[in-house]
Amino acid sequence: MRIVRFQIGNCTGYGVVDGTDINQLKGTPFNGIYYSGQNFKLSDVKLLAPCCSSKVVAIGLNYKAHAAELKHDIPESPLMFLKPSTAVIGHGDDIIYPVISKQVDFEGELGVVIGKQAYLVSTADALKYVLGYTCFNDVTARDLQRKDGQWTRAKGFDTFAAVGPWVETNLDTSALKLETFLNGELKQSSNTANMIFSVAELVSAVSQVMTLLPGDIIASGTPNGIGPMQIGDEVEVKIDGIGSLQNRVRHH
Ligand code: MG
Repeated sequence: MRIVRFQIGNCTGYGVVDGTDINQLKGTPFNGIYYSGQNFKLSDVKLLAPCCSSKVVAIGLNYKAHAAELKHDIPESPLMFLKPSTAVIGHGDDIIYPVISKQVDFEGELGVVIGKQAYLVSTADALKYVLGYTCFNDVTARDLQRKDGQWTRAKGFDTFAAVGPWVETNLDTSALKLETFLNGELKQSSNTANMIFSVAELVSAVSQVMTLLPGDIIASGTPNGIGPMQIGDEVEVKIDGIGSLQNRVRHH
């Protein structure tokens, strides 16, 4: 099932994609799937970020080849940082290039959307708390990341958490092809099988620290091949079994 959040006119809502249509849900998908009876054409709506997040917990260095390209050691436990909810944008929204950065990179990642409140959950139980999966671009001001040491500024700009186009609920994430394209050119090509910590391990590990709420996102880390974007560029994160998240970079 593919769950979207959308806007049409003044109305926003959640829905389930059915071919070229959206079947609107009553309320949110977090208390069960109940249809409102209203249908819309997918082509008539604006897709929003597919969930409202209280926080985005991002994982650093979860692929060996990416840790190597940044000349970092492989972490012994998941390395976590936060991206603010105000950074979240959806499919088709613009990434704004900050005036104070000279290097803004893409990082294509598998996004994990939390479905149920989770605190101190085991790895064995972790996937019961997941609603589904989406494409994620952990946009990063690399020059500020190097300068600061702490990553909040470099990772926290408005529009630096692109999510979408939807949440795929039925998916085995153990071996999914993950690709990032810049202006149609392949830049990152890896597989979630190369993740150091699995999705279940990540959900469990984050839940040992903080309560995960429905709609929260865990960005599971980027593979090697990261690189800079320029104003006007089109970036696409594509994951097998989910789809393609596309955004353009624009001037402030
Ligand atoms: Mg990242």
